[in-house]
Amino acid sequence: MVLATNLGFPRIGGQRELKKHLEAFWSGQINDSRMLEEMEKIRRGNWLLQLQAGIDQIPSGDFSPYDHVLDTAVMAGAIPPRFATPSGTVDLTTYFAMARGGPEVPALEMTKWFDTNYHYLVPELQEDQIFALCTIKPVREFLEARELGILTRPVLLGPVSFLLLSKAANSTFHPLDLLERLLPVYGQVLMKLRDAGAQWIQMDEPCLATEQSAAAHQAFQRAYQTLSLAAPGLKLMLTSYFGPLADNLDCAVNLPVAGLHLDMTRAAHELPELISKIGPAKVLSLGLIDGRNIWRADLAAKVEPLTLAVRALGTQRVMVGPSCSLKHVPVDLYMEPRAADEPFTWMAFAHQKLHEIVALKNAVDSPKAATAVFATASAALAARNMAGGVVNPAVRQRAAAVTPAMMERHSRFSVRKVAQQENLNLPLWPTTTIGSFPQTQEVRRARMAWRAGTMPLEDYHAFHQKQIQDAVEIQEAIGLDVLVHGESERTDMVEFFGEQLAGFLTTANGWVQSYGSRCVKPPVIFGDVQRPAAMTVDISAYAQSLTTRPMKGMLTGPVTIMQWSFVRDDLPRREVCRQIALAIRDEVMDLEKAGIRIIQVDEPALREGLPLAADQRKEYLNWATECFRLAVCGVADSTQIHTHMCYCDFNDIMPAIAALDADVISIEAARSGMALLAAFREFRYPNDVGPGVYDIHSPEIPTVDAMAALLQMAARVVPADQLWVNPDCGLKTRQWDQVIPALTRMVKAAVMLRQKNNADSQLV
Ligand code: GLN
Ligand code: ZN
Repeated sequence: MVLATNLGFPRIGGQRELKKHLEAFWSGQINDSRMLEEMEKIRRGNWLLQLQAGIDQIPSGDFSPYDHVLDTAVMAGAIPPRFATPSGTVDLTTYFAMARGGPEVPALEMTKWFDTNYHYLVPELQEDQIFALCTIKPVREFLEARELGILTRPVLLGPVSFLLLSKAANSTFHPLDLLERLLPVYGQVLMKLRDAGAQWIQMDEPCLATEQSAAAHQAFQRAYQTLSLAAPGLKLMLTSYFGPLADNLDCAVNLPVAGLHLDMTRAAHELPELISKIGPAKVLSLGLIDGRNIWRADLAAKVEPLTLAVRALGTQRVMVGPSCSLKHVPVDLYMEPRAADEPFTWMAFAHQKLHEIVALKNAVDSPKAATAVFATASAALAARNMAGGVVNPAVRQRAAAVTPAMMERHSRFSVRKVAQQENLNLPLWPTTTIGSFPQTQEVRRARMAWRAGTMPLEDYHAFHQKQIQDAVEIQEAIGLDVLVHGESERTDMVEFFGEQLAGFLTTANGWVQSYGSRCVKPPVIFGDVQRPAAMTVDISAYAQSLTTRPMKGMLTGPVTIMQWSFVRDDLPRREVCRQIALAIRDEVMDLEKAGIRIIQVDEPALREGLPLAADQRKEYLNWATECFRLAVCGVADSTQIHTHMCYCDFNDIMPAIAALDADVISIEAARSGMALLAAFREFRYPNDVGPGVYDIHSPEIPTVDAMAALLQMAARVVPADQLWVNPDCGLKTRQWDQVIPALTRMVKAAVMLRQKNNADSQLV
């Protein structure tokens, strides 16, 4: 019999219980035992749901109160010295301090989990790191499920990926150097799990889907040789996901493990090779159901590779599951009020995907019985292909008719710069902000009242106009040169546009975990994208009417809108992105027509879209930058295009940043002490740059001197006439009583340096 497996289930709960109870605990509203009880409920609910769905190998240990990489670090006793406790144990206080920071102790760094929107905490390892089994969470949760009568498959983040994802406290060693010291801890856990009754263990080694060195290959060999002997009788299922094994295939297939999992949504082409190399005993687990997207599977098509594998290996040696953990998709489609209507009927969330997995398993056992289920799936897909709005001929024609000229500004930057200076008349080192101002209680309350229907639309509009008036008044008083309207009307920079563009839908409950208690609700792109009406023009024109200073029009760029949505799987991403670019282009042109002289198109997610496979990156950067240019290049030379990016490493994408050809790019730089700017200097970045001088993540109000010092550092790297002055990012998470003094000082710092620069140049 083919077994149905799952690699992981969302931890957030169907109603975002994780968030609710974590935040209640952090704010002292509930105590630790109550919080832990609630978490147990989430786990229990998930296990029972998977049992009822018919999953044979249900995961345990996939739950985490905050993050599974942090859990692994804590399990192995990798507690950085700044969190050390006298007793050496890790209680909840230490755990959450590592996750969120504590008094005077900064949290672990957080970074993106491969190419997903999930963020993990980066373990910090010391050169003399001692590992010791510090918690037995995997065993506890295995036993917890056992009490419910469920024999789970515990999930561990494998030792090699754990080390590869960690960071060395200094550059004198590589985390992989610590492998020998780490393995005994894993050995102990495996032994305890076996003694508790576990039969299979899922060892997640997602790093197998990224390029690895020979040293890493050796580490894999060494690790699994050791672990295969650590707990005889226990079967290890080595799981890779998010991409093909590529150059790691031979390494992976030769490891002494009982099974291997392949992401069939991204590596299906490797199946024949894997079958031919897998040897006489290993089990092959096929990740056929997409764990990264919300579309129903074409089950009939998925049966083909499954049958191929079964024919080659026999039913005993084949498992079927999702491509990766299901934590990257929302929990349950039936939480959507419109679940019975199109386009929701074309979708499958985590819960529905379990049924798809089981349907595939059953299809092998009794093909006849499967016909009905398959027919339903095919009917949904056929309906999707036929439905209005999915293919819009006008959009297709327009996208096909895009010319290279549409992706070029009329003149080169040096010419535009002169025209813009005439148009804008800005001082040296102009000051501005990134777009959003504090989202206060008042703003949230108004939005809630409007959504609940207790505030009429006109009042809601009037409310935002008042917010804009206040914002303009404050900015003028501070003396900023280029103003923003403050974005009080936006909950989220992508959802705001998703709500207004055709081809998008927003869900009521489609939450996925971003990190810890934070969830995001990505819009769904189901059809061709078009802009039915202007989206921001009224607001921007209104804001501009209140001031003679330039008011920036604020848009989110096509790449970011796509990157932070669930994207249709029946059209290449580059095509989807091009459609969004054309819609944004219309908005850009309308803003210009309405008298907006500076338009900022944010692309904070440009870097994130970079494919994991190195050989695909160039192509991605080509079409991504083209889409940005398509969105902005229709404007006159005298209209200034800004873009904004934050919290990413620019070093390897500088040519792409330059290819955007934005007149001004603002970046985060204060937080990293201007380190990021080095990339701009080395590259001799030709256009204007605004390196952030105010770390917006901190409640601290920086001094004039501190900001002036950062500016001077920047002025050493970037020629003075290319420099702008701004914070690191938007200010929506800050309070007005922090923002006003901080921006006042920022403007003071800029004025001070302008004067100094004047004095210096008079001396010459
Ligand atoms: N304009 C957005 C803001 O100010 C940019 C946010 C971002 O970079 N993520 O909030
Ligand atoms: Zn930002």
